[in-house]
Amino acid sequence: MNKMSIRERISTTMRGYGIIRRYCPGLVQSKTCYEFINALQPFLSVWFSARIIDELSARRSLKTVTAYVAGILLIQFLCSVLKSTANRVYTEKQSQMWSGFGKIFSDKQMSMNFADLENAQIQHQRQQIEESLYQFGNGLARLVWDIPDLVLAGVNIVSSLVMTWSLFTSRSGNAALNHSAWILIVLLCIALGGLSNSKATVKKNNAFMRWSKDTTWFNRTFQFFGRELYVNTEKAKDVRIYEQNIIASKVLDKLLQHDRENQSDIFKMSVYPAIAYVTIGLANAVCYLYVVAKSFFGAFGVGSIVQYVTVLSRLGEGLQALMYLLSDNKVYCLHLQNLFDYLDRPNPMYQGSLTVEKRDDNEYDVEFKDVSFRYPNTDAYALRHVNLKFKIGEKLAVVGMNGSGKTTFIKLMCRLYDPTEGEILLNGVNIQKYDYDEYMSLFSVVFQDFRLFALSLGQNVAASAAYDTDKAQRCLKKAGFGKRLSAMPNHLDTCLYKDFDTDGVEISGGEAQKIVLARALYKDAPFIILDEPTAALDPVSEYEVFSKFNEIAGDKTAIYISHRLASCRFCDKIAVFHGGAVIQIGTHEELLAAANGKYHELWNAQAQYYRTQNT
Ligand code: ADP
Repeated sequence: MNKMSIRERISTTMRGYGIIRRYCPGLVQSKTCYEFINALQPFLSVWFSARIIDELSARRSLKTVTAYVAGILLIQFLCSVLKSTANRVYTEKQSQMWSGFGKIFSDKQMSMNFADLENAQIQHQRQQIEESLYQFGNGLARLVWDIPDLVLAGVNIVSSLVMTWSLFTSRSGNAALNHSAWILIVLLCIALGGLSNSKATVKKNNAFMRWSKDTTWFNRTFQFFGRELYVNTEKAKDVRIYEQNIIASKVLDKLLQHDRENQSDIFKMSVYPAIAYVTIGLANAVCYLYVVAKSFFGAFGVGSIVQYVTVLSRLGEGLQALMYLLSDNKVYCLHLQNLFDYLDRPNPMYQGSLTVEKRDDNEYDVEFKDVSFRYPNTDAYALRHVNLKFKIGEKLAVVGMNGSGKTTFIKLMCRLYDPTEGEILLNGVNIQKYDYDEYMSLFSVVFQDFRLFALSLGQNVAASAAYDTDKAQRCLKKAGFGKRLSAMPNHLDTCLYKDFDTDGVEISGGEAQKIVLARALYKDAPFIILDEPTAALDPVSEYEVFSKFNEIAGDKTAIYISHRLASCRFCDKIAVFHGGAVIQIGTHEELLAAANGKYHELWNAQAQYYRTQNT
């Protein structure tokens, strides 16, 4: 990690707060509001109390005293109301803070170049940043947690300076006490107190870190024997009868030995705070003596003594908070910088601007023109000179052995990657020229590792909270889920799984696949891509689902990726991939007729497998 300049730290911190404001709206504002009132309240009380004491010890006007008492009560009441309102808002906002942070990462992941999404190094970087944020609050959470100190430092320093100014400007009977050098002396004493306290805290913490670094063995030993003694019932009897004392004395001996070896750190842990207390005490004594002396020589009344003494100690607190913030800022800025490095990773993929013609006739055709592709940082081609053309309404099957390039072909078609060579055309135009999001909306993809959520069945199908009931039902029926739907206790409102609803229903792998299929249909995109969508089904059920596909997909273009040839034979066109190239294209019958072809070979190999399975 590089050291950062003050300017960089300021801009990093500001950007961090900007991100929090965007992803967790109201969080920083409500917390700041609460802390501001909280920090200001004591100053208001002190000011009113000082005026009341002054009044009682001098003029004793009942009217004035009553006015001050009423003033302080009213202000306390208003502060309490505002504080509790701000706190309520803050509590609610804070409960959403972690999901807000999660959204920062998911947004970036979604907008990231797909190659980066598959790049282990970048994903490792993200994982480290997330872990550090979620486990220790490093980075963004620190910004939120530092708000109390930030506000306290600001309010205390400004209010204290304002409320102590009259201490220096008021005239006493002793000319020496009226000298302006006292401003410097008093402020230096306060700063010295604050500085020694924060330095002592840092040094004490360092000593503690050194001391506790060696005590992990103690925790581990303690945990181990704790488990042995209390959890492991098999051994507990023996351990209790024979070994308890030995273990206890062993651990104790070790701890005493550790303390003997680390005496200097133990000494530092107690001596630094002690030095700080003495320094603060002496510095405060100088200030308080000055205040009392000035009052003694007639500069102000008793009430003002209370005000100045209280306010000067608040000034010390403010300075301490400021010093803590500055040292904490140094650390969290480095963590924030790591986050920004990840967030600022550019997406070099060309973002086109052409609108995709939404054709009522659904007349789209896609053409791969001599497409070759290499994954980033690899030498081998995953696809080589692929030429393929297909029209809307066609059912295309992409078959081939594992690693032959089927998924890569789909990834290129969906523009998750751009071809290394050649081009892909939609209605004769290079797909890179289309607006990325619009182009993506043409596809409904059912991935092999699909996810369903513990929400209602209808919401799962629509992939949104509000949905068209009739359409959801139609899609589920088309996907072969009709019978099961009528058996569902709350129909479309039935919750899937039991995570959030004890009445939720558990569904089988096959049923889940049908729901995912219905989801793809609900999106109503002209292209449906199914990447081994029935992998969890046995070959017979898979065939059953596939044979109904013409009916399910209707006039949409469906592309099936499968390594089970039997399931794809109803397709209009079958493309056989091998070693990244399309080596055969044709109907099932045509391909099977080519006795020397790969399809024929794979078909026979698989047919044999099924025969063996069935016998
Ligand atoms: P299939 O879907 O037919 O199993 P893939 O398209 O997944 O095949 O893989 C084709 C080739 O590309 C394989 O050699 C595979 O190792 C390689 N490959 C796939 N994904 C990546 C990736 N993210 N990075 C590098 N190489 C990859």
